Amino acid sequence: MLYQTDFLVIGSGIAGLSFALAAANCGTVAIITKKEQAESNTNYAQGGIASVVAPTDSFDSHIEDTLKAGAGLCHRDAVQLLVQEGPRRVQELVRFGVEFTRNPQNQFDLGREGGHSQNRIVHARDFTGKMVENTLLEATRMHPNIQIFENYIAIDLLTEHHLGAEIESQTDFYTCWGAYVLNEEKRDIHRFLAKATILATGGGGQVYLHTTNPSIATGDGVAMAYRAGAVIANMEFIQFHPTTLFHPSANSFLISEAVRGFGGLLRTQKGERFMPRYHELAELAPRDIVARAIDSELKKSGDEYVLLDVTHLDAKQLRERFPRIYEQCLKFNFDITREPIPVVPAAHYACGGVVTNLNGQTTIRGLYACGEVAHTGVHGANRLASNSLLEALVFAYQVYGHSVEYIKNFSIQFPEIPSWNDEGTFNHEEWVLVSHDKAEIQELMWDYVGIVRSNLRLERARRRVELIANEIEQFYKKTKVTASLIELRNLASVAQLIITSALQRTESRGLHYTTDYPQCDDKNWQRDTLIVSGKNEKQRFLNSYPDIDW
Ligand SMILES: Cc1cc2nc3c(=O)[nH]c(=O)nc-3n(C[C@H](O)[C@H](O)[C@H](O)COP(=O)(O)OP(=O)(O)OC[C@H]3O[C@@H](n4cnc5c(N)ncnc54)[C@H](O)[C@@H]3O)c2cc1C
Repeated sequence: MLYQTDFLVIGSGIAGLSFALAAANCGTVAIITKKEQAESNTNYAQGGIASVVAPTDSFDSHIEDTLKAGAGLCHRDAVQLLVQEGPRRVQELVRFGVEFTRNPQNQFDLGREGGHSQNRIVHARDFTGKMVENTLLEATRMHPNIQIFENYIAIDLLTEHHLGAEIESQTDFYTCWGAYVLNEEKRDIHRFLAKATILATGGGGQVYLHTTNPSIATGDGVAMAYRAGAVIANMEFIQFHPTTLFHPSANSFLISEAVRGFGGLLRTQKGERFMPRYHELAELAPRDIVARAIDSELKKSGDEYVLLDVTHLDAKQLRERFPRIYEQCLKFNFDITREPIPVVPAAHYACGGVVTNLNGQTTIRGLYACGEVAHTGVHGANRLASNSLLEALVFAYQVYGHSVEYIKNFSIQFPEIPSWNDEGTFNHEEWVLVSHDKAEIQELMWDYVGIVRSNLRLERARRRVELIANEIEQFYKKTKVTASLIELRNLASVAQLIITSALQRTESRGLHYTTDYPQCDDKNWQRDTLIVSGKNEKQRFLNSYPDIDW
């Protein structure tokens, strides 16, 4: 089947939905989403959205905190935009009907998280993401210009590659005309043609064995954009959340940073408080420092977990402020008001991604990216807590602003994109290969490309993942595509991109820590680690953005 629309949005998290709601007043919008509509990282966000709304706070302070966390790699212009536009976008959520928690004076109840020098986290108790996701979905469903396709998974972006054409010039760009998409229920592959395509596919935490991310987070957007020739940056900066519930059935359930902001203390199993030994902000130090401190304590003691202790805090207030965490822990027989919570770190957030400028434009014409899939320059080497929902909101709006103008001037005819050709492919019954390959990648990445890295481990991971990726590619070419095969192929690409970036960075900075280069190298430092699949794209990109200091 062939669909045609003005805007194709891939992903129904905060980035995709907020873009769609803005753009739908200017054209038709098709949102494709690979599972049920609400399934997204957004839906699981607990802590909240960082925003300067208190009279005692200032843009400068939020900017400084963000730059400090980013360890010298943030793009200042992107951070300024994020912080200054933030309050407007938060107010828009309120207009859509998001009910943020308020104090008795009816002002936002502002939480505090690691790395923030002020209380500035707007939240809906500890289910901010769910509240935002549901409210935006509700508004989306009511909009006559928006159509949502559930259980549709994008396979690849449509570009000149599908016409058998390569672009040789160093000044021209590829164009994106939409995507090939699998309807998972019917197992049909459709062509979605669009004047503008927006990647809002979120992160790729599933590349690691332990992750807070739901199963949809397989890095599809980065992998698709990379195959299409877009520039990808800073994939080595994976944020590991320090505190997820340690229990075999808890699926790395997140214990929000806000719990530490509320007064939670980290202790070894012997009861010793250890964070003051690692950082002056102790439990409120930036996440990478807390995660590495826990990793180091675990390695020293040989224990499987450390403890997050909130038993000294007021039980009623805890239940009131963190109802979801309280209930979830109770399910696993931990009453957090009476006993400390066993916690371990897990992969949480990808700071790098598809390179965009401040308008969310990628290096492929007609292709935009926003939300966790994008590298806007906001996070640098480490994301400041609760800046990601904000980034998704602010940059989705930037994409809206630019793409609406782009489609107004769109005069190109869509080319004859061929139907999906699956001649010579079969329904293989070897699905054990898929699950086995996935588990192998996840374990390799956890063991060799995790919180603490070294050249030896990275090289070993590189060789092994390359082998697995080649086998997957062979299998993919012979097999009728399914969602799990598409995801596996993407996970393998994302693993390769993370390893390649990590090997490129010969220093420790922010979230990337390697024992071979344990210091920041401020003399020979590299700004962003750029990776691109085609031979001309990087030069074209550098030619086109001479004003950006790469
Ligand atoms: C447990 C948890 C807690 C968090 N807490 C916070 C917090 O308190 N504050 C904060 O700022 N950030 C938080 N984050 C991070 C934040 O939630 C995410 O960065 C943000 O929600 C990403 O939004 P997004 O719209 O970019 O992607 P997502 O919300 O992940 O949405 C991605 C969408 O793309 C779809 N998709 C993916 N691939 C395809 C494909 N191939 N075809 C079709 N559809 C596809 C998915 O199904 C999904 O609908 C948290 C993350 C987690 C996991």
